[in-house]
Amino acid sequence: MDRIDLLGIPVGVLDLDQAVAAVQGLLGVGGYVCTPNAEMLEAAQRHPGLRAALRGSAFNVADGFGVVLAARLLGQTLPGRVPGIDLFTAVLARLAQSGQPVYLLGARPGIASRAADRITDEHPGLNIAGHHHGYFPAWAEAEVVQAIGHSRPALVAVALGSPKQELFMAKWAVDLSPAVLIGLGGSLDILAGEASRAPPLLGRLGLEWAYRLASQPTRWRRTLALPAFLGRVIQVRWRSRHDPDQ
Ligand code: UDP
Repeated sequence: MDRIDLLGIPVGVLDLDQAVAAVQGLLGVGGYVCTPNAEMLEAAQRHPGLRAALRGSAFNVADGFGVVLAARLLGQTLPGRVPGIDLFTAVLARLAQSGQPVYLLGARPGIASRAADRITDEHPGLNIAGHHHGYFPAWAEAEVVQAIGHSRPALVAVALGSPKQELFMAKWAVDLSPAVLIGLGGSLDILAGEASRAPPLLGRLGLEWAYRLASQPTRWRRTLALPAFLGRVIQVRWRSRHDPDQ
């Protein structure tokens, strides 16, 4: 798989179909997949644990338009966004055919089971190995992991928000192998019908961040990470042009 480097974080040069095939290639092998947006890549510049988790994944996909734009600013090309939720639902369709089970971890109590119901309505034949909410205390983490392992899933949706989900996957992927883990942010809320996605047009215009900000105004501080990351990228590019030794 071709990868580009975005300020120390590798991102797969993949469109949605290629990303689905790459996840399928990991089934039965193990590992974890991250779905960074610009906010996460900015956070990784200051959070060594998140950075290490993103560097240790099987691959990362460009969840947000900011990542595609950052690549362009660095003179690199990505085929486009691969939203984590689109990747997950496309993989679910394959799992429904093959009969391989999926486990849903994350979101507030009650959400994962509602997401499981809606997913199985959408993909009859899909085997849900189990689900668990994402608000367990640190001391219960090993027990949750053990329960996931006992249910023998092929794929685990890890929707604990960032950086919690990336740190969780980096810590437990080997124990849960050969299950594949995929980090999905707020996707279970959307799949459960609790939250809505940005309209497709806004997504195409690269404005999904504006939709999230409007629907969750308390995120304003986090939204500033997008211009911060792009500013950092522009600085790196400027330096590499003016100081080729760097
Ligand atoms: N969440 C969770 N456990 C936590 C904190 C958050 O399961 O300890 C869930 C939360 O309920 C939501 C998702 O993680 O479903 C975070 O969604 P968000 O869109 O904020 O994702 P992020 O941008 O943080 O990746």
